[in-house]
Amino acid sequence: MTALMELHGVVRRYGDRVALKVDHLSLEEGRIVGLVGPNGSGKTTLLRLLAFLDRPDEGTILFRGEEAQGRREALRREVTLLLQEPFLLKRSVFENVAYGLKLRGEKEHLKSRVDEALRSVGLDPARFARRLWFQLSGGEAQRVALASRLVLRPRLLLLDEPTASVDLHSASLIHEAVLRARRDWGTTLLLVSHDLAWLYDVAEEVVALYGGRVSERGPENLVAGPWIQSKEGVLKRRLDDGQILVASGSADAKALAALDPSSVVVSLDRPQGTSARNLLKGTVSQMTYENASGRVLVKVLVGGLALTARLTDHSVRELGLHPGLEVFLLIKASAFRWL
Ligand code: ADP
Repeated sequence: MTALMELHGVVRRYGDRVALKVDHLSLEEGRIVGLVGPNGSGKTTLLRLLAFLDRPDEGTILFRGEEAQGRREALRREVTLLLQEPFLLKRSVFENVAYGLKLRGEKEHLKSRVDEALRSVGLDPARFARRLWFQLSGGEAQRVALASRLVLRPRLLLLDEPTASVDLHSASLIHEAVLRARRDWGTTLLLVSHDLAWLYDVAEEVVALYGGRVSERGPENLVAGPWIQSKEGVLKRRLDDGQILVASGSADAKALAALDPSSVVVSLDRPQGTSARNLLKGTVSQMTYENASGRVLVKVLVGGLALTARLTDHSVRELGLHPGLEVFLLIKASAFRWL
């Protein structure tokens, strides 16, 4: 696969503080990539660099293998960023979606392109095109904003928290619109979301940022502190219900631990003679099919944490897992990685 965009040795500073430091990151053409990370981890900074709205203080950005520097104006047409709080023009839905095309002088087939974009986000043009910006629900407004980006058929579409303030129905329509943009126009997508269940369902891979650095690809559990250093040389994290999570290694109290869902084992009863340091009781809350691996991500609520395990559909059936079921999670202390 060819890379649509590649970052090499990219550093972005605000004053003398490093907000983002990416040694290497590559976005393959036509992929749907998730981006996660706590507040302040550099997600917006990265989005702005990828959208050519800001330039890096150091390093190079390649677009389809060629240096982007020097042709940023032209490349801005290839990339579109949709911010968390969509800005709609105080006009009709039609005018909002048509605006970008008009600005670009692409007036041919204007109506049919706008209609197509509206339909792709589940809005019937006959019902919605003439509505004014204030006659929309939050989810509809978000979908109009998305349609106004999709109509431009960008090569790269960056979506910042596209489902943050929308209803479930809109979230699933946005999911479908993302898949359709990739299928119909080969659009590459980068999606930032705190809604991990939604994100892991739609994204084929997930990039995690922490402290401005890329930590890992693939869905991960992230466990924040406070961690307490114990005498036995392990770190302990007390969960809301009193259960204790144990992780080996050394880290400070505020460190963030990453845990691969494949190293979380689900069991129906309390197993005997396990070598795993962690045996945590929890409740299955959600099950999602993961496109990329063909496996099932099982989210389990454990004392205020949501931990995800990756299972084959065979074991999901064998264990008879379903939301609401009480289960045990077995996790080795050495399975945690410190970010
Ligand atoms: P996120 O989107 O993940 O919340 P940001 O990219 O907004 O993170 O921020 C990364 C870091 O850069 C944070 O520490 C933030 O305080 C800092 N930062 C972001 N924008 C600015 C700015 N305009 N001036 C100074 N610092 C900033």
